[in-house]
Amino acid sequence: MTVPNAQPLTSLDEWEDDLKVRYPEPGKPAFQATDPNKKEEEFRNYAKNARPSVREFYRLNHTFQSYDFVKAKKADFLQRNRRQMTVWEAAEYLNNLVDDSDPDTDMSQLEHLLQTAEQIRKDGKPRWFILAGFIHDLGKILCLYGEPQWAVVGDTFPVGCAFSDKIVFPEFFEANPDRKNSKLSSKLGVYEEGCGLDKVDLSWGHDEYIYHVVKDRMPEEALYMLRYHSFYPGHREGEYDYLLNDQDRKMFDWVRAFNPYDLYTKSHEKPNVEKLKPFYMDLIEEYLPGKLSW
Ligand code: FE
Ligand code: FE
Repeated sequence: MTVPNAQPLTSLDEWEDDLKVRYPEPGKPAFQATDPNKKEEEFRNYAKNARPSVREFYRLNHTFQSYDFVKAKKADFLQRNRRQMTVWEAAEYLNNLVDDSDPDTDMSQLEHLLQTAEQIRKDGKPRWFILAGFIHDLGKILCLYGEPQWAVVGDTFPVGCAFSDKIVFPEFFEANPDRKNSKLSSKLGVYEEGCGLDKVDLSWGHDEYIYHVVKDRMPEEALYMLRYHSFYPGHREGEYDYLLNDQDRKMFDWVRAFNPYDLYTKSHEKPNVEKLKPFYMDLIEEYLPGKLSW
């Protein structure tokens, strides 16, 4: 398979901007009709109007995120033998991810993390919730290891079983090698009904990576937020319920509670990094002290 442009997005934010078109903030005018019967039509319009770069990004993502690909990436990156960094060092490292977008209007990666966390803090949420906001995208350092955009961001979905047609641009799964495998393209695939998401491999990206870096040290609610925040087919579309167990269903309330902070807190008011740093250093010290393995 040939790859014309491995990095079609001008920035990773283009994926998140596109998410906001598909899942607009409640009360804000957008393409999504209030009439539920119009939903399908609206999604067709979305697909028609999506930027070519975003469309190409999903074409690559759906073509190459196969069961074998995910297993191989996990075997490699989950050894976590690349770097030893504190959480703050990782945030500064991620901030090296600069792209072609307009520096005057776009947030840096660190600013997105602080803005998400600060809104959670303003709403009086627990300290672990604030910390989850601060670290949720640190897995995007995968990009700095040279990984392609389609293996770092994008809505995640289970591999090893049939792809839901509620996943954005489902037609691009036609080119995924798993489509030709009768086991991997069956409803349950390699899984058992109700087996629980922990046993399910999702498409590889920044969620799963950060989850593994902190998994022994944060409350379960935070771990669900980190691990599944890009799993829109699950937490927004309600797909794949047959793979979930009762604990997953309970914990998904937290994933849904986190999502608006991630998607809708981007404003043009830049957070003051130096002023906020002491608070976050304390928070990191409380839950995730010292160097972590990345
Ligand atoms: Fe994210
Ligand atoms: Fe984010």
